[in-house]
Amino acid sequence: MIAPRLEVDLGAVRHNAQHLIALLAPKGIRVIGVTKAVLAWDRLAAVLLSAGASGLGDSRIENLGALRRSGVTAPLTLLRSPMLSQVDSIVRIADVSLNTEPRVLAALSTAAARHQSLHSVVLMVELGDLREGVATTDVVDAAHVVCGLRGLTLAGIGTNLACRSGVVPDQTKMDELSALAEQVELACGLELTTVSGGNSASLGWALSTDDVGRVDELRLGEAILLGVDPLDRRPIEGLRGDAFRVVAEVIEVQTKPTMPWGRLAQTAFGDGPRAVEGAGAGPGKETRRQALVALGRQDVDPEGLTSPAGTTVLGASSDHLVLDVGDHDVTVGDELTFEPDYSAVLRASTSRFVTRVEVVTTSR
Ligand SMILES: *Cc1c(COP(=O)(O)O)cnc(C)c1O
Repeated sequence: MIAPRLEVDLGAVRHNAQHLIALLAPKGIRVIGVTKAVLAWDRLAAVLLSAGASGLGDSRIENLGALRRSGVTAPLTLLRSPMLSQVDSIVRIADVSLNTEPRVLAALSTAAARHQSLHSVVLMVELGDLREGVATTDVVDAAHVVCGLRGLTLAGIGTNLACRSGVVPDQTKMDELSALAEQVELACGLELTTVSGGNSASLGWALSTDDVGRVDELRLGEAILLGVDPLDRRPIEGLRGDAFRVVAEVIEVQTKPTMPWGRLAQTAFGDGPRAVEGAGAGPGKETRRQALVALGRQDVDPEGLTSPAGTTVLGASSDHLVLDVGDHDVTVGDELTFEPDYSAVLRASTSRFVTRVEVVTTSR
């Protein structure tokens, strides 16, 4: 079969989406299904929507455009703050965008007016993770700015945590967001329809709290796709962790010295030169069985792979993965199956060299 490939079990994705949506709905929290890790694959997007997602979100306007072209009519949210150079396509394609910059808001307004459309804005608030967001002290001013711009409506406010710095979305942070929502409503005399409480990292809080406050939306990618909590990458109870796997082909199996020999400088990807203990002038006596797999940094994030039981990843370059295969029964031409994390799924989905294949997992 064609290799490398990303095998996807949409049944597992559907299960995860339905399960989370069913847990969050009674708390008054809608789910935006986030498609960026799968390059907005239309089949998976359709699964998210039929499982009950209130809309779809992606960080790239190109991906949202592809969803629209595939016939999606549900609301589309642009997750990354708009580039000034893309405001025209953004107001044409996206119903909502997450924003922080007055200049961008002004440009979105002009573009929306030009297209005679109405574009919804969610103002992102900086609550400590230090990626996107306006300071809490500036939120009301920013809200006034949005309300004064034609072509724009202020849908609400939101936050994104645990991405750049790993700041945990806990009750304190979420209470702060809820309080800000009320401040904005009071100051602007309107009702916000969206208080977006974050990404998959906010699930732990949302599922355990008995006070969601004003939070009425989460933007979920990783938890639905991989069934894990991004705060510790542990499985979320009731979810499936087997929706994705990466399959690649073995192109060399040889027994080789464990240590390189010769003078050592930087590697292809700039590591080192490392002090390799035992690296000598010639091949050492200690050996191991090593397999080369036709899978590299152009295909996946090698750090994000769990290799088959009994094997260990020794290294990776643009096109090769080097595995210690021990006495594993592996020969040239064999296929090996790896479990990818979010980063590896993202890279595999965006690589031209990886073919996506739908599978139905029976037992694993
Ligand atoms: C990627 C992203 C999400 C989804 O994150 P997951 O961890 O995959 O749930 C949500 N919001 C924003 C702003 C994002 O960039």
